[in-house]
Amino acid sequence: MINKKNLTPALKQYLEIKEKHKDALLLFRMGDFYELFFQDAVTAARELEITLTSRNFGKSTEKVPMCGVPYHSVEPYIEKLIRKGYKVAICEQVEEPKPGKKIVKREVIRVITPGTYFEDEKEERFLMAIYPSGKKRYSIAWTDLSTGDVFFTTTDKEHLLSIIDKFKPKEIIAPEKVKTIFKEIKQICPESFIQIKEESFFKTLNKFHIESNNETELKVLSSIEKFIEETQLEFKPKLKKARRYVEENFIYLDPFTCKSLELTESIHNSKKEFSLFGVLDKTTTGMGRRFLKFSILHPLKSKESIDRRLEAVESLISSMFIRDEIEKILKEIYDIERIFSKISSGIASPKDLAAFRRSIKELPSLKKLLNGLSGKLFKEIKKDFDTLEDIYHELERVIVENPPFSPREGGIIKRGVDKQLDELRKITEEGEEILKQIEERERKRTGIASLKIKFNNVFGYHIEISKPNLHLVPEDYIRRQTLVNAERFITPELKEFEEKILSAKEKIEKIEYEIFSNLRKFITKNAERIQKTAEKIGLIDFLLSLSKVAIERNYCKPEITTGYSITIEEGKHPVLEKFLEEDFIPNSINLAESAFLSIVTGPNMGGKSVFLRQTALIVLMAQIGSFVPAKSAKIGIVDRIFSRVGASDNVSRGLSTFMMEMVETANILSNATKRSLLILDEIGRGTSTFDGMSIARAVVEYIAEKIKAKTLFATHYHELTELEKEIEGVFNLHVTVKEINGRIIFTHKVVPGSSEKSYGIHVARLAGLPEEVIKRAEELLLSMENNITNKIPANIKNKDDTLPLFTLKEPENYPHSEILKELETIDISTTTPLDALMILARLKKLA
Ligand code: ADP
Repeated sequence: MINKKNLTPALKQYLEIKEKHKDALLLFRMGDFYELFFQDAVTAARELEITLTSRNFGKSTEKVPMCGVPYHSVEPYIEKLIRKGYKVAICEQVEEPKPGKKIVKREVIRVITPGTYFEDEKEERFLMAIYPSGKKRYSIAWTDLSTGDVFFTTTDKEHLLSIIDKFKPKEIIAPEKVKTIFKEIKQICPESFIQIKEESFFKTLNKFHIESNNETELKVLSSIEKFIEETQLEFKPKLKKARRYVEENFIYLDPFTCKSLELTESIHNSKKEFSLFGVLDKTTTGMGRRFLKFSILHPLKSKESIDRRLEAVESLISSMFIRDEIEKILKEIYDIERIFSKISSGIASPKDLAAFRRSIKELPSLKKLLNGLSGKLFKEIKKDFDTLEDIYHELERVIVENPPFSPREGGIIKRGVDKQLDELRKITEEGEEILKQIEERERKRTGIASLKIKFNNVFGYHIEISKPNLHLVPEDYIRRQTLVNAERFITPELKEFEEKILSAKEKIEKIEYEIFSNLRKFITKNAERIQKTAEKIGLIDFLLSLSKVAIERNYCKPEITTGYSITIEEGKHPVLEKFLEEDFIPNSINLAESAFLSIVTGPNMGGKSVFLRQTALIVLMAQIGSFVPAKSAKIGIVDRIFSRVGASDNVSRGLSTFMMEMVETANILSNATKRSLLILDEIGRGTSTFDGMSIARAVVEYIAEKIKAKTLFATHYHELTELEKEIEGVFNLHVTVKEINGRIIFTHKVVPGSSEKSYGIHVARLAGLPEEVIKRAEELLLSMENNITNKIPANIKNKDDTLPLFTLKEPENYPHSEILKELETIDISTTTPLDALMILARLKKLA
């Protein structure tokens, strides 16, 4: 324990600062290192895998645990700690160490938290605030400091969770009273770090100029602002104006649907390549990539907006030259939004400014190229397209071609920018020359041919004159030293020169830093212009990406209608058709008011779920404004897509899974509308056959009669195919297989009607189940199909735990009792594994 009475000043200072940052790891700057002490040191040493040592704090006799990292390479360590979910407080020396002063002043200059680590190069990091707003509703605001985006809305729990799923906030600020939803948030977004804040933290600051008179919306926005202010201190990036997140504009996609359709990552290996995003992403800028991701998770609902995008993509497709030229320019554009955040928060390096300059250099050419493109959307992009030329020229005027990384060591600013700077540089560079000039001039003036200017550490620059010439020394020379054969003088001019040359370097660095800082400020002042242009670049990049994919993969332009029906001719699954080694078999679908709910049957592995998913994906792509993998597509706009395909593929079965499935089904049934698209696979399979079938049928009936949403329902319950005859609008589809010599070949072709057989056993054979098992299964199937239930041996009945096993009356000749007798004779303690096998074989014969 620390004895508080005998604290050294350094330890006292440390403890005082640490007291204010209890929940963060405190990186305490000491000379060339950031050091951590006490428990912080133990934690950091473990997490960073660095050596834990101990040290005396000043004259204190007690040693404290310590570890440290060099200040110039602290970045990767901070990154590692943040990724592991820690907060890091950076404490700097805020004054120069002075002789005679015991201790330098230190202050925490920034607290980096999981939601505010905006210089992260790899991931988006959203910071979110949640506050309850009336009955079962919540106001939320979220921001990505690296781009300056701020969104807010007020919504119900369902939508709140879906927003969390889409933006995956790294950090959430919430008051204690919304604790009830934390568990669900964690389930959807395990990486989110939830900070409970007191009520007073959500005081309205009203700084955001937003059109909202909703008190709780202002509260969440204010709390975000406050949190950033408290943590980032002098390093606050300039945020954009807060924008209302208008859910009504977008198709509603719940977390399960996003996952099941593999929109941004694949279910199996969470890889991006094998997702829709992976296929559509041919963007070259960060803005474009983010816009694409946002759009995939937020397909549009207005025909006009969708058509505008489609028209723009089409225009790009038809002009190869413009496309190539735009691409060339975009390739030179760095992530302007993120660089701008670094600039406005004051952490940008000279290299960042050069990258920024390079990024905006070709904007006038980009604008010109846009003239060759048609459509309303491009017209809008062109209108007020700010090419930021003034900013480019300023950067070009001031910053050298290839500036260094550090802003404090000079070499950043061009010549001709600052008179004083040029003079200083001249002094350092041409010092020798100037000295020679002075020497020459003085020789002439005094007539002393041997006059020399010399330098030493005691007197600095001085003029040395030999004894015989001393009578020629002018009056303005000041004597400093007498030697045997000569005397040394200084002049005010020389002293001035010396001063200049020695402090020139220091001054140069200072002036350059100042000019550089002013330039950062100048750029920051143009925030709105830059952010607007960056957004337009993102949109262009997004459209270009869609056009490139469309050309490469031979997509067609979908026709968007406000009608009900969806007709897809020869549709393909966008991801599978790209990565499948064999040819992908296209399939068509027509969902119309007269036939809107299809029961899809067919063997396992036949292609049902691929067919279901591709239908949803094609609709979704069309509503993003993308061309689609089909020969033709006519899409009646949908308002929601619910996908429950592949539900139990990667979750363990059991009652709770069944329960979950039912909760989700309930959710769909209460939220789907006639305009929704439902993609349901195997509803009800988590329970016994009869239960499951009954539920599945009831669900289909409900959708068909009450909701009337366009639906594809894949099932193994063949009984459901009967519904085609019973309910209007229901029709059957099935995936076909060919049977050759008792083996089946999947054709993956979807055709009208229901399939006749369940090909489970064939699939089991393909999967490599032992032939003996397959044979037995075939026998059993046959007997079941013949419906000779009274002949079914007990061991089959036993397999289905829903049959009332123990109430069965035991027949006279039943083998059961004999087996039991045999079992009773076994003494397990003396039975070897081999014995056990033999006994099993004997028992089997009895059965
Ligand atoms: P089901 O849902 O009927 O069990 P899937 O839809 O999962 O079957 O399809 C199984 C596999 O068949 C897929 O992983 C894919 O490799 C292949 N497949 C499915 N549909 C097609 C298709 N249209 N063209 C080519 N291969 C397909």
